[in-house]
Amino acid sequence: MKLNDMTPTDTAQPAADGARRKQLALVIDLNVCVGCHACVTSCKEWNTSGSAGPLVDENAYCAAPTGTFFNRVQTFEVGSFPDTQTVHFPKSCLHCEEPPCVPVCPTGASYKRKEDGIVLVDYDKCIGCKYCAWACPYGAREIDEKRQVMTKCTLCVDRISDKSLPEAERKPACVLACPTGARQFGDVHDPQSEVSRSIREHEGYALMPEWNTRPANHYLPRRRTGSPLPPEPAQQTSWVNKTAKPGGAA
Ligand code: SF4
Ligand code: SF4
Repeated sequence: MKLNDMTPTDTAQPAADGARRKQLALVIDLNVCVGCHACVTSCKEWNTSGSAGPLVDENAYCAAPTGTFFNRVQTFEVGSFPDTQTVHFPKSCLHCEEPPCVPVCPTGASYKRKEDGIVLVDYDKCIGCKYCAWACPYGAREIDEKRQVMTKCTLCVDRISDKSLPEAERKPACVLACPTGARQFGDVHDPQSEVSRSIREHEGYALMPEWNTRPANHYLPRRRTGSPLPPEPAQQTSWVNKTAKPGGAA
């Protein structure tokens, strides 16, 4: 499947009772992401290590390092040679509106907040059984081997609700760190929000809609910018021809 072939999503759907509920989420622009991993390291720094140190939590320089990442960037090639593109694809919990990870949890540790739609894990109730990780079709949950609790993206819930921070900084660490502005954060149920406008204007889509999980996070597809590379200069071609030996070897 081509990334651009996915179906744009109507995000402003009301809840079953007809009320419009807030749903916080990330919108990630694949046209802008350069795969620098600033979002990965800032997430790690804010959520698990407290420092910009090794990217694993335990045994960083030993044979079996362990650690959790709430956010990963995967890089792959799409298309057929020679018409290919390199796509950097940041991926974390999508804060699904119908999260299959919640009802399977035997202790109620996994839950979705009514007030803003964030899916969270209550570490005090989690017994590390991993049912939720098996239920998540996106591979978004990772067990913390040391504490034996399930972890995942919280949308930096402690940052975004911290009234001691200036309002402009009450955003997930990854959004603040992204040097290209590829990550937006806001209420995807508010039709006037920046994230909803981006989804509408750039045909934003949700991952794997066939699972009926209704991910709140959205992606903006790659777009043609209309600025193709200039043709190769004539002198350069002739220089190459002069230095090429007969028979093909340079
Ligand atoms: Fe649950 Fe996975 Fe959806 Fe996150 S992405 S809410 S972990 S099903
Ligand atoms: Fe992409 Fe921004 Fe993450 Fe860098 S920080 S990998 S540009 S989303």
